[in-house]
Amino acid sequence: MAKERNDLCALGLVAAREKLRSKEISAVELTEAYITAMQDARGLNAFITETPELAREQAQRSEQKLMRGDGRLLEGIPLGIKDLFCTKNVRTTAGSRILENFVPPYESTVTQNLLDEGGIFLGKTNMDEFAMGSATITSYFGPVISPIRSTTSIDKDLVPGGSSGGSAAAVAANIVIAATASDTGGSIRQPASFTGTVGIKPTYGRCSRYGMMAFGSSLDQAGPITRTVRDAAIMLSVMAGYDAKDSTSLNVPKQNYFDALQPSAKGLKIGLPVEYFQNLSEDLTRVMNNSLDTLRALGAEIVEVSLKMLNYALPSYYVIAPAEASSNLARYDGVKYGFRASKVDNVNDMYDRTRRLGFGKEVRRRIFIGTHVLSVAEYDSYYVRAQKVRQKIKQEFEEVFRTVDVIVTPTATGGAFGVEEGPKMNAVDMYLNDVFTVSLNLACIPGISVPAGTTKNGLPLGIQFVGPQLSEQRLFDVSAAFEDANRENV
Ligand code: GLN
Repeated sequence: MAKERNDLCALGLVAAREKLRSKEISAVELTEAYITAMQDARGLNAFITETPELAREQAQRSEQKLMRGDGRLLEGIPLGIKDLFCTKNVRTTAGSRILENFVPPYESTVTQNLLDEGGIFLGKTNMDEFAMGSATITSYFGPVISPIRSTTSIDKDLVPGGSSGGSAAAVAANIVIAATASDTGGSIRQPASFTGTVGIKPTYGRCSRYGMMAFGSSLDQAGPITRTVRDAAIMLSVMAGYDAKDSTSLNVPKQNYFDALQPSAKGLKIGLPVEYFQNLSEDLTRVMNNSLDTLRALGAEIVEVSLKMLNYALPSYYVIAPAEASSNLARYDGVKYGFRASKVDNVNDMYDRTRRLGFGKEVRRRIFIGTHVLSVAEYDSYYVRAQKVRQKIKQEFEEVFRTVDVIVTPTATGGAFGVEEGPKMNAVDMYLNDVFTVSLNLACIPGISVPAGTTKNGLPLGIQFVGPQLSEQRLFDVSAAFEDANRENV
């Protein structure tokens, strides 16, 4: 029995979908296998809320559809949902005490899209509080442990990256087939890099933000974390799409990236931004060089390009993101939602205590920073300046994309670190985790992280492919070719 279950859970999305459609396996048996796997892996703390009963009901319905031969794109596929997508009648916490008991009366558009194509929801995955973090150690519900271990210190618990660490850990541990995630500055791609999974942050506006807890509204994007590039292509095809309920949603036709997939890097001009390749660790240098060789062997031409604004990306992100967060989080005041502090003297005291007790330290830090940079005295010197820098970053990418088709960079600066080390890092060291990813959010352009290799002690390292706005298909094509050619290195 145990072996059978492992076999079922080893199937990726593409294979599982084929076997479900050919009735070789059933949606009910697949879902049961995943429910057991999820419960057996509770030590990872990858889920905040498990929804086995909901999953069983959905699996029954999928089963009937499949029997009739009209399975939809994700019919019977067990998924994890990051706990910042509102799910109707299922608790949604954003990893925060302030929403500990919040049960949304409505469904986010992204999760609705998944339901409409027959996805099965196993539960809500753990995350950094309000998606603020790079390690999934700021969750009110405790840290997530990565299923990945280093070959040299096998007993050491590692972080799965963040903020979508629950989703990444669940995918890497084979306790979901795929998961939703969100990325404001790197939270899909960096955890994908840490856990040896694939994560794509689409063009800003591809996926609707309706029903997604807002962090930095001009930066937030939903995307999938999956085991393979092809799985990601299927997931994003379902998650994305224009939505009138989100004013920033892009009104572009829905695409099926999987059906249109043409894995190839032949004839592509790939830009190597020199600034992103300075002072890399020995491991990362080796892995990136191997990856570039693989791309050359696939027929791509690698050319050096320059993105001089790299050094200004993090500083401007850490003005803009907290500014937007401080405004977005003003709604959690103890009146309309969730947690409210008891034993208060008056209304001001109620606001004060509710927010002091309801939010964790990192969230309060961001609110302070954001409120400060938006204050009358500081607005011009921080917020306005950061917006100018953002424009320049956008322009710089646009210029480079006049000469190359795709840009490659490392996804993260190294492999995963220890769960114990995270809290000891100072805030800026933690922020540096996203040095290669945030500029894409600022420029509203897509990027995908694909496993590229490992450190000497076996920790996954990802490569990031970056394209101009709405170039997701190109990114899937090149990264699928890379993934196929690079199998023995990961
Ligand atoms: N780590 C970054 C931050 O803490 C990005 C988080 C994210 O993408 N949600 O803000």
